[in-house]
Amino acid sequence: MVKAFEEALNTKVVVPENHQTMGAIGAALLAMENHQYTETPTKFKGWEVGEMNFQSVTCQCNGCSNNCEVITILEGSEPIGHVEKISDIKGNIIARWGGTCGRWDIA
Ligand code: SF4
Repeated sequence: MVKAFEEALNTKVVVPENHQTMGAIGAALLAMENHQYTETPTKFKGWEVGEMNFQSVTCQCNGCSNNCEVITILEGSEPIGHVEKISDIKGNIIARWGGTCGRWDIA
């Protein structure tokens, strides 16, 4: 693939050693710069997050005709049970995404 690009572009293509994590590194650098310039508190949850128990709940929003599929991440392993509406999801919500309009987003 690299060779094909090099031939097509007639230039050397550099593949960094950590190419699989470049997006994460870039996002971390942007977050660090944002924190430095705006002095907003960090939302970093700590390195312990890898040891945290969490679960996900997927629920459809019926707020408009988009019918977005919204994913919620909750801390803990307590059984959640059946949830009809996103607003019924209770607990320590640590992230939520998937709505087109951002209505439910929590990061
Ligand atoms: S999340 Fe927003 S865009 Fe998606 S269905 Fe609900 S109201 Fe509509």
